[in-house]
Amino acid sequence: VKRQGGNNLAYYNDVDGKQALVMFQTEKALRLGLERNELQLYLQSQLDEQGQLAGAEALVRWQHPNEGLISPGLFIPVAERSDLIIALDNWVLQQSCQLLANWQQQGRKLTLSVNISPRHVRHADFVSDITHLLDLYQLDATALVLEVTEGILVEDIDASITKMQTLAALGVQFAIDDFGTGYSSLSYIRNLPVQELKIDQSFIKGIPLHANDVAMVTTIISVARQLGLRLVAEGVETAEQNAFCQREGLWAQGYFIDKPLPVAAWQQRWFTP
Ligand code: C2E
Ligand code: CA
Ligand code: CA
Ligand code: CA
Repeated sequence: VKRQGGNNLAYYNDVDGKQALVMFQTEKALRLGLERNELQLYLQSQLDEQGQLAGAEALVRWQHPNEGLISPGLFIPVAERSDLIIALDNWVLQQSCQLLANWQQQGRKLTLSVNISPRHVRHADFVSDITHLLDLYQLDATALVLEVTEGILVEDIDASITKMQTLAALGVQFAIDDFGTGYSSLSYIRNLPVQELKIDQSFIKGIPLHANDVAMVTTIISVARQLGLRLVAEGVETAEQNAFCQREGLWAQGYFIDKPLPVAAWQQRWFTP
């Protein structure tokens, strides 16, 4: 077990006894943290092909009382082992919908993207969790983008597609996150009610130097064009990658534009004239 500063949190690959214990402790702490309101919503901007602010992705952080700010890479995988991830997703969704309602009242035409775990999509309450929030906040649903991964295609595929269709009919948009890293048979995309592909940052990293990454991205672009999908490049870190996005008509997200910021700081940065 790789210890993180003597606390109970650790990365793990497979489950032996010790690791199971660490995971159990992390899960317990996270459950408590959720109750004690220790989660925080961060936002990272998405710029359209003209370089204008088009929206943001909601990314969760855990402000632990002793351990400081904990990144989701450490606790999301633990949460995903049980229905705890559903409580966590719903916390993020509630915060995000409330924020989006605020923006819509201010007349801001921005999308807000929220990550949804495959386990949540498979859960019986998924559709009602979303429709409840759309109603509660009287949202224009077309501004809400739910980011799912190809993990939703592993089990209960037909049921997942039906749920997505129900929400899509209300205007909710879906994006395939980390696109290119999974099954990557492009053909299944046709059967999904999806408006957006997010090209995984591992491909963007290689632009413009690595011919294989450029080829991969170019192929994704041409398929997306034919299917009428919006493309978002993740992990845009350099001016060159940003210029590539604008030239190719992709939305851009990454450290070149901004690092994820707490909501108040993000709004301060982007909304102050
Ligand atoms: P993701 O959805 O693929 O999110 C993108 C990750 O890349 C974020 O890490 C973001 O901070 C990071 N990133 C953004 N721009 C750059 C860049 O230019 N360079 C590099 N190297 N990295 C960049 P973060 O916030 O640590 O999130 C990690 C993962 O945790 C997310 O990956 C997502 O799978 C999961 N996650 C985060 N928030 C939530 C949530 O609210 N619900 C669920 N279910 N999962 C979440
Ligand atoms: Ca995402
Ligand atoms: Ca991603
Ligand atoms: Ca990812």
